[in-house]
Amino acid sequence: MEAHTSKSRTCSAPVPGSLSPKRRELDIERLANEQLDILVIGGGVTGVGCALDAAARGLSVGLVEQRDLASGTSSRSSKLLHGGLRYLESRDFALVREALHERGLLAKTVSPHLVRTVSFMIPLTRRFWQRIYFGAGVLLYDLLARTGRHPLAFHRHLGRRATLELAPGLKQSSIRGAIIYQDAQIDDARHTLAIARTACHHGASIVTSARVTGLLIETRNGSETVVGAKFRDLETDTDYECRATKVVNATGVWLDDIHDMACPAGLSVRAAKGVHLVVHRDCIDSESGIVLRTPRSVLFLIPWGDHWLIGTTDTEWDYDRAHPAASSADIDYILEHANAALQRQLTRADILGVYVGLRPLLDASDDDTTKLSREHAVAEPINGLVSIAGGKYTTYRVMAADAVDAAVVGLDKPVPPSVSHEVVLLGSDEWQHWSQQANALTQRSGLDRDIVERLLWRHGNRIVDVLEIAEHEPALATGIPGGSYIAAEVVHAARHEGALHLDDVLARRLRISIEDEQRGNLAAESVASLMARELHWSDQRKDEEVKRWYERVEAERAANAAPDDSTADSLRRRAADTRGLNDA
Ligand SMILES: Cc1cc2nc3c(=O)[nH]c(=O)nc-3n(C[C@H](O)[C@H](O)[C@H](O)COP(=O)(O)OP(=O)(O)OC[C@H]3O[C@@H](n4cnc5c(N)ncnc54)[C@H](O)[C@@H]3O)c2cc1C
Repeated sequence: MEAHTSKSRTCSAPVPGSLSPKRRELDIERLANEQLDILVIGGGVTGVGCALDAAARGLSVGLVEQRDLASGTSSRSSKLLHGGLRYLESRDFALVREALHERGLLAKTVSPHLVRTVSFMIPLTRRFWQRIYFGAGVLLYDLLARTGRHPLAFHRHLGRRATLELAPGLKQSSIRGAIIYQDAQIDDARHTLAIARTACHHGASIVTSARVTGLLIETRNGSETVVGAKFRDLETDTDYECRATKVVNATGVWLDDIHDMACPAGLSVRAAKGVHLVVHRDCIDSESGIVLRTPRSVLFLIPWGDHWLIGTTDTEWDYDRAHPAASSADIDYILEHANAALQRQLTRADILGVYVGLRPLLDASDDDTTKLSREHAVAEPINGLVSIAGGKYTTYRVMAADAVDAAVVGLDKPVPPSVSHEVVLLGSDEWQHWSQQANALTQRSGLDRDIVERLLWRHGNRIVDVLEIAEHEPALATGIPGGSYIAAEVVHAARHEGALHLDDVLARRLRISIEDEQRGNLAAESVASLMARELHWSDQRKDEEVKRWYERVEAERAANAAPDDSTADSLRRRAADTRGLNDA
């Protein structure tokens, strides 16, 4: 194997798992005409995980996603692969151990090119009891991780001086010492995309901008049975029916909507809102991430490339699930709790981006969302429909395997057990070799080493596909405004990564929407021009995409100044996304 790029596009090998516009057309045709084993609804991490799990077992699989891959919660998490130290307090030992096992598996085998180790510090402000209490928790956390593969470095106790050397930005007067431990982080949207492309490579049909509008229900052996779904291609406003032996409902916070199409729900979810702020790396002087206690939960200060992610909140959300909004109160809450520990106070002027996600929590009668279960559950509320709910990003693979295990019961052919623990995602093959190729690739491509390293982290060994585009057309090796991305990545996103709209690129294929003070406004015009050329948009369509983006940014900014959720929601709703979706 060689880090090699070809001059001629016509001679190049086909790109594996390419979610090209042509492939989308063929996949819609297939969904409309073929009887599938499994149809998955929802293109978040759980849904694409189900599609890959089933396809890798040799089943015929389709997946429909109403917007873009990871456009729901799966691009808006804290981006940690973790056991969740705080779940030890509620004695969820099995949940923590399972998640730590998954953390190791993803880092070592399944997706090493997307996983990074990150160290966190728990600052101690009281001399004895905190060190004993938190120390015991972190010790247990590390011991539980040792039962799985790929344990990370053991935690360390630091005195006051060592703590302030590592994190001079902490408020010095209150610091007594710290405990430092290791966890892992991942770019959630790119990881979800990598799973989808790997599923496609294994034969699954992945169709985005395709919304399920109803279920096909027939009476079989005297009982009502789901035998497929109706879906609408939102790009052409065309309706189709897809027939499948089993339908898997992996729609996160929309789970109950699908149930409402068929029957009274047997499983229900509640949406809990979590807000993150993004600030530049210079704003906080620390070499390590920081974990702070808050009265309700914890607040993470997470190093993220040239930025910090700071979050999160945890409150009930009853409004538009397509566009959850952060209010001024959410932002104040995060700033207040971060500033309680920091020497240099963060202000609103420091905030580059704000993003909001909805946790799909298994419903319980308890009113407080911080106490709802983070475990997952699988149910078949009506024959033929398997629903999967709850869980965490970290445990998506286990959730998917459990859902597919439930779906294959009654299939008229033998189905092997899940092999997803062995399926390496596209980009991660021979990663040990590729992770050493930054120098060679920098020399061959003529790009800056920083750019090559970042491309390697985002694309793994499929960096060759991006470099080939830039080599074929050198103008695409230049940067796009407002971020450290190159134009070839935009073309690659439209050509091979299933990006159909401007927000798919600005918010998920790249992360300009949260990394740049202008929230992507600076890049919108040039990214839209690159997409227009690739996807054959008219000038009018291109202008419309840019206009919608500006409206979205304006609506988000207005919501961020609103005093409460209800006002934030109504301000954010003023701008629907490019697919025109807003919850009724
Ligand atoms: C603030 C926050 C921080 C978090 N941090 C972490 C973390 O650090 N680590 C961790 O492990 N977990 C974390 N989580 C949890 C994790 O992000 C979620 O559990 C996970 O992303 C849920 O994925 P999902 O696929 O179930 O849902 P989603 O990603 O929401 O996917 C559901 C999809 O279904 C689609 N859909 C809905 N209705 C239809 C329809 N009718 N037709 C077609 N498609 C439809 C939606 O468009 C959506 O894309 C966090 C969650 C939040 C909110």
